[in-house]
Amino acid sequence: MTELLTDNQDTKILIVDDTSANISLLTEMLQLKGYQILAANDGRRAIKIATHLLPDLILLDIMMPDMNGYETCQILKSQEQTRNIPVVFISAKSEIEDVLMGFSVGGADYINKPFYEEEVYARIKSLISVQQLNKQLSHSESELKTVLQKYQQQADRLEKIVSHIDNGILEVDAQGNIEFVNPAVSQLFNYNITELEGMNLLQLLAEPFAGEYKQYLLEPGSKEEKQFSSILVKRKDGCEFPVDFSLITLPADEPRYLAIIHDISIHKNREEKLKDLSYNDSLTKLSNRRRFDEFFHKEWRRSLRNRKPLAFIMIDIDNFKLFNDTYGHKQGDDCLITIASTIKNTIKRPGDMVARLGGEEFVVLLPDTDREGVMQIAEQIRKAVEQQEIPHYSSARGIVTISLGIAISMDKNCDSTEQLYKNADQALYQAKKAGKNQYRIFEC
Ligand SMILES: [Mg+2]
Repeated sequence: MTELLTDNQDTKILIVDDTSANISLLTEMLQLKGYQILAANDGRRAIKIATHLLPDLILLDIMMPDMNGYETCQILKSQEQTRNIPVVFISAKSEIEDVLMGFSVGGADYINKPFYEEEVYARIKSLISVQQLNKQLSHSESELKTVLQKYQQQADRLEKIVSHIDNGILEVDAQGNIEFVNPAVSQLFNYNITELEGMNLLQLLAEPFAGEYKQYLLEPGSKEEKQFSSILVKRKDGCEFPVDFSLITLPADEPRYLAIIHDISIHKNREEKLKDLSYNDSLTKLSNRRRFDEFFHKEWRRSLRNRKPLAFIMIDIDNFKLFNDTYGHKQGDDCLITIASTIKNTIKRPGDMVARLGGEEFVVLLPDTDREGVMQIAEQIRKAVEQQEIPHYSSARGIVTISLGIAISMDKNCDSTEQLYKNADQALYQAKKAGKNQYRIFEC
């Protein structure tokens, strides 16, 4: 019983009856059960008390002067504050019409007088517990609404970020089928969003990365975040471009991934341009002295290690000063470009190097090439230039020619790159002295 008293002490019941004796009886009975009791002898006072003190339940007599119980109930049900307070009619009127009338004006229950204490108590108890459940439910509902609102705001914010970010974001399933893309993906790959959402991620990747990625997806077991740097992907037109690519596992029942694509082509282009500027001759596009020096030292060490000959050809355009004086510098530049590409086209092996050291001076470096081999190549270059038939009326032959000096790393006393260079330069001098438009090989 003590337990019940404690349970009920926060519950307020309003008893409304024009007969004070009835109020006393019910009050005594319900106070014993631990309820707080409010009381009113007429309808108007009942409405006032209910509106201000908000009881949890109202026990309402029907037959009262001025305002009867039905009218009182109607007013309580029409007011926002009191609408949800359950009303239980207690009346001597026991005809079915009376009971139905009670329910039709919004009553929650109907008890006949004279009543049994236990019946009144049982009905009150059940109505109050329903009332409390309703209260809890509406409280939970409003809490849930707040949480949902918060999530919605967060989702809206994320959506804004995802749609405005420059990085491409794709959501794919375990097979790589694309299920979501942001606008950046569409811009990067030149497909529209609808097209992309029917595609597989593999279709956007260029080989060999596509294979590597496929293998990664097919690996059993859970996957951690994976980064792929500087890989190639391909646009709708087949054009490939470099990106950094990360794959993140998403929390879900089925394996799903978020792929984030960062376009690095602008950065890459700049990098390559800089490299190009520092390593290539801007006029002829051949390697410049800087790249040649690096390559020369590397090949020199390699030839020593492998005991293979490194052949060196130094090339100089005959009477080039005279050519410039006759035709001007613009024509001079064109002549240099033609000679450069002619030499370059004659050198077929990928390991060989052609460079412009400056002015009208070119060099060719041929790893693993002996005397016989390099003499053949030198003659091919000389002939190829001659066949260009670039007019040079101020010269004896009427066309542009070149002289070539050859040296080999395995020549006697040749113990450094400087020596090899000197030897080739000396051979070139011999070729010039002998009448130009020819090659000479250094004789030790
Ligand atoms: Mg009465």
